[in-house]
Amino acid sequence: MTATADAIVIGGGSTGCSIAYHLASRGLKVLLMERRHIASGSTGSSPGIIRQYYSDPVVSLLARESLLCFQSWKEELGGDCGFVRTGFLTGSSGIDTDRMVTNVQLRQRQGIRIEFLTPSEMQKLQPDMITDGLGGGAYEPDAGYCDTVATTSTLVAAFRRHGGTVIEGKSVTRIRVSGGRVLGVETSMDIIDAPIVVNAAGPWAPQLAGTIGNQLPIHVSRHSVTMLGPTARRMLDEQVGYAELAARFYLRPDQHNRCLVGSLDAGDSIETDPDACDPVVGCETAARYRDRAATRFRRLVGAPIRYGWASFFDDTPDGNPIVGQDPGVSGSFVAAGMSGHGFKLCPVLGRGIAEMIVLGRTELPIEHFSLGRFSKYDRSDSRKQTGADVPDVSGSE
Ligand SMILES: Cc1cc2nc3c(=O)[nH]c(=O)nc-3n(C[C@H](O)[C@H](O)[C@H](O)COP(=O)(O)OP(=O)(O)OC[C@H]3O[C@@H](n4cnc5c(N)ncnc54)[C@H](O)[C@@H]3O)c2cc1C
Repeated sequence: MTATADAIVIGGGSTGCSIAYHLASRGLKVLLMERRHIASGSTGSSPGIIRQYYSDPVVSLLARESLLCFQSWKEELGGDCGFVRTGFLTGSSGIDTDRMVTNVQLRQRQGIRIEFLTPSEMQKLQPDMITDGLGGGAYEPDAGYCDTVATTSTLVAAFRRHGGTVIEGKSVTRIRVSGGRVLGVETSMDIIDAPIVVNAAGPWAPQLAGTIGNQLPIHVSRHSVTMLGPTARRMLDEQVGYAELAARFYLRPDQHNRCLVGSLDAGDSIETDPDACDPVVGCETAARYRDRAATRFRRLVGAPIRYGWASFFDDTPDGNPIVGQDPGVSGSFVAAGMSGHGFKLCPVLGRGIAEMIVLGRTELPIEHFSLGRFSKYDRSDSRKQTGADVPDVSGSE
């Protein structure tokens, strides 16, 4: 007998788990399908930085709404997402500093707690900071990070409590469509009927979209993270998160006086096949990342390298996600192309797409992320911009 559901969500990353939870909590019979295990994609490798300073006002607004969700996670989800407030500082130099001052004022008008700091104020905040060449920084005291695996597992637990079913270890091989309508999905073993299918397969979303003849403008690239420490001085109490485009790195504190460092250098973002991505980060790369971070923070000079890992970004041409209904196929939805900043948005993207499906509308401005905006792009070229936080850390635009 063919299995049936009201909706099938493909992909057990933070995006798919949030969508599945929000759909089930609105009374739908939902199947969450994951080819490996929950959080086995880029979600499980993400430092999970939660910050709100973006040049795109919609991204900032949604990041602010999401931060409120992370802060009250236990009340809604009944479990801990591991949110740790560290504060986050974005450094700027040259002409970017004038833009940053303007951007900070715009974000303040959106209700975001953020202030512009001069280099000497930055140094007061981070006493071991080397501020040479800096024009200032945007400081968000409420920013922090989450445990991405704990976040997804609490979403899945809440999803199950609402009657949702999780199928792990089974790959969807095809989305089934007939007469312009979604019929369900096919796996190597069975077919499942559903009038709604959400493609939240992250870097694999383009492959799945291809099974219904759609081309998603998503380019997959490999990104590495290095864990450093412990350093001689306590880090967690002292060190805020930091990102700077000119210095080509971002950093966030971690437990036990350690920190994670990633690259903001486009040269380190390497096009990759998500099925052939090498997760190992060599000592040379790790030392290069550490030495970049040490140009700003004295405590990181010669800091011990613990280990590193690599995963992938699913980048779109404008560095923003693709979220919404597929205009060509009724019942088909996409939530992918998170461009390196999708974890922090998962609470609101999940709610927004569930409201669109169940109510036919949402007050969240996720229309901003519709696939239709790319009609002006050549969809075969998704490499017009490197993704992630990169375009935004300078506060440019
Ligand atoms: C190094 C790194 C640093 C990052 N830093 C941050 C950060 O600081 N802050 C932030 O907000 N974001 C960050 N991100 C981005 C963030 O991790 C992701 O955008 C976010 O986790 C959303 O992922 P996702 O659920 O869309 O995709 P994924 O987590 O990749 O999930 C997709 C899932 O779909 C499954 N799947 C694929 N194909 C199929 C199929 N055919 N059938 C069934 N299942 C399938 C996969 O196995 C996978 O589990 C970072 C990412 C990386 C790699």
